[in-house]
Amino acid sequence: MNTIDRRTVLRSTAFAAIGCACCGGLSRSALASDGAAWSFEGQTGPAHWGSLGTEYAACGTGVEQSPIDLASAIPAEFQPAALRWQDDTDGQVINNGHTIQVNVPNGSAVKLDGTTYELLQFHFHHPSEHLIDGKALAMEAHFVHRSAAGGLAVLGVMIGEGAENAALAPIWSAMPKEKSEGPVVPVALKAFLPADRAQFRYAGSLTTPPCSEIVNWVAYKTPVEASRAQIEAFATLFPMNARPVQPLNRRFLLLGGG
Ligand SMILES: [Zn+2]
Repeated sequence: MNTIDRRTVLRSTAFAAIGCACCGGLSRSALASDGAAWSFEGQTGPAHWGSLGTEYAACGTGVEQSPIDLASAIPAEFQPAALRWQDDTDGQVINNGHTIQVNVPNGSAVKLDGTTYELLQFHFHHPSEHLIDGKALAMEAHFVHRSAAGGLAVLGVMIGEGAENAALAPIWSAMPKEKSEGPVVPVALKAFLPADRAQFRYAGSLTTPPCSEIVNWVAYKTPVEASRAQIEAFATLFPMNARPVQPLNRRFLLLGGG
């Protein structure tokens, strides 16, 4: 199977998974698989995801997987991701058993290479999933956007230990300790982003099952900060929810847009 065929097949599989989730009324959670149970350790951990079910095959056989080490990027000229995020919105805070996720209403989007993607949700990983020059940061936030055609654009924001992060505060106050749906809280989306918009770009995948290779990744190079107390509050619930880095293979990692 050549690369294009492989991508088409994997994409079809992903559509099926997302389609099912939407039918179940879970459109905001559409990227969470309803398939076999998976985790970040042991027999259902990342090394085994690809064999837990046929719907997760891409986790094992995909060649454009995420996350990756953001190192040795090729400097490039491109238009940075054009954010059309609402200044102030709100979002429902959910503990889905794998992370804290905030589902946001329609109205925030990003335009990338001529395609518009609507923001569905954002969530967090501890430690960061992407590495920068081989090093993990304390956390990483993922802002998941979807186009009308079903492709995804995910914006990754690295979070290092430092000053308290005011944008996180209302979410952290609301996050359920067990798997459940929490309250709706005010969300200041733009306050999550670094001032310097230099960004890595590459073609990759969901970092959790079904690992669908349908993601246009934008990872900001400059981290934002969160306090040690904020990081520990999340780590108490999710000590480790980061997939190990995957090989770049024949992909290009670009850096530009700053
Ligand atoms: Zn993520």
